[in-house]
Amino acid sequence: MEVSTEKRQFVEHLQAFRNILGESFVFTDEESLNNYAHDETENLHFLPDIVLKPRTAEELAATMKICNAHKIPVTPRGAGTGLSGGALPHLGGVLVSFERMNSIDIDERNLQVTVEPGVITEVLQNAVKEKGLFYPPDPSSRGSCFIGGNVAENSGGPKAVKYGVVKDYVLNLQVVLPTGEIIWTGANVLKNSTGYNLTQLMVGSEGTLGLVTKIVLKLLPHPTYELLMLVPFNNLEKAGEAVSAIFRAGFTPSALELVEINALKIVSSFVDSTVVPVTDDMEAHLIIEVDGNNMDVLMQEMEAIAELLTQFDCGEIFFADDAQQKAELWKLRRRVAEAVKLDGYTIEEDTVVPRAALPALIRGVKELGKTHHFKVVCYGHAGDGNLHIRIKKEGNIYSLNNPNVIPALRALFELVKKLGGTISGEHGIGLIQKEYMGIMFEDMQLELMRGIKRTFDPNNILNSGKIFDQK
Ligand SMILES: Cc1cc2nc3c(=O)[nH]c(=O)nc-3n(C[C@H](O)[C@H](O)[C@H](O)COP(=O)(O)OP(=O)(O)OC[C@H]3O[C@@H](n4cnc5c(N)ncnc54)[C@H](O)[C@@H]3O)c2cc1C
Repeated sequence: MEVSTEKRQFVEHLQAFRNILGESFVFTDEESLNNYAHDETENLHFLPDIVLKPRTAEELAATMKICNAHKIPVTPRGAGTGLSGGALPHLGGVLVSFERMNSIDIDERNLQVTVEPGVITEVLQNAVKEKGLFYPPDPSSRGSCFIGGNVAENSGGPKAVKYGVVKDYVLNLQVVLPTGEIIWTGANVLKNSTGYNLTQLMVGSEGTLGLVTKIVLKLLPHPTYELLMLVPFNNLEKAGEAVSAIFRAGFTPSALELVEINALKIVSSFVDSTVVPVTDDMEAHLIIEVDGNNMDVLMQEMEAIAELLTQFDCGEIFFADDAQQKAELWKLRRRVAEAVKLDGYTIEEDTVVPRAALPALIRGVKELGKTHHFKVVCYGHAGDGNLHIRIKKEGNIYSLNNPNVIPALRALFELVKKLGGTISGEHGIGLIQKEYMGIMFEDMQLELMRGIKRTFDPNNILNSGKIFDQK
């Protein structure tokens, strides 16, 4: 029987990848392909043709040269915890997993760390903490997501409200370009006004411009103390109003999270916790943390915030006394997404508005829920104006062009834009939000983005069809 050209080429590429990476790090078996066919975005599933696990930038560069020459689609993948479908290999082709690139090299003299993309974020945080140092960005998924994925998404997390997001810590990146060259984007310095900022262009580019193979991060001294309180509110919008009042009064908490009561009930039962008494007269809670090195100052700050919040119809405040109570509260917050997803709130949106517009966003979302017949729960990084909105619609499974869902999401994003916000604060656009980029940008801005993509990736092989479609 004659072997087709396509099949022959596939076998040739496979052999070339094996020659570069070694037999053990090139996968085509069904189980491996299935393991990399999905992320945490709804129920989407796309099989790659080949999974590659390079150990070095040089190996990866050599494989990219082959992919570029033969126009093979390439999808970079971290831990697959993404919520916008960025790591989904929707065009098949090669999937690059960074799990073998996981070294950490701490530079204590300069308060910096050079880390490879396959390091789990919490592992990195613990490694630097052992040296008294602090890497603050802490997505709720930090126990499983990779630092490379965090860079690609410009991730945030609870601490972003005081310490900023990933972009605020990235000093320099080693990147393998889609064409197979290896570059460094900047220098390992705290200030840099030398030419265009390629480092920041790469951060948040969702694996569409290059494959990040080394990351140089700035570190801080680790704060000594953290105090945590949980504040119940009788009214969800009042909780939203209280958020901006805290900052206007001159406080900067190290975390300020909102959890609507339904989400709290669901997650409490999911993790079997009774630490928070849930009563029917409450609509939402704020989790507020302050950190620093002087306990007296922190206590005064907490008391002053608590006093301020009495103006917003809050209930009895719960102060987490010990490490166990703090861990319990954070466990509840960090597992909300997982719990509500399992409860049927499958669609998650990552809206962000100017902080003072939070009450209007909350009100608008509830009205949209009534108009478009969906159930909704809100939670998230309220201190940043970043509200995750989870939607439940009977019989609905997210699909990229589900006619039941698109009008509702469009209305939501138009509301967010009207309030001066944008459609993703930290999860990225990926595959599933690109439909809505036109709400945020005119053709002119989108064409500029496409031009940048063309410059980095002339053959459009790297994570093609993510963020926008190339024309
Ligand atoms: C329960 C839960 C809670 C979450 N909480 C938060 C939160 O608080 N804050 C937050 O910001 N996000 C949160 N997320 C979203 C997600 O964890 C983050 O987006 C995270 O940064 C993704 O990392 P990952 O390693 O899983 O990347 P993946 O999902 O594997 O990939 C994400 C994107 O990065 C690209 N990519 C991965 N590695 C590289 C690389 N080395 N070079 C180039 N591109 C690369 C991929 O192509 C893809 O586009 C949460 C997710 C879950 C499931």
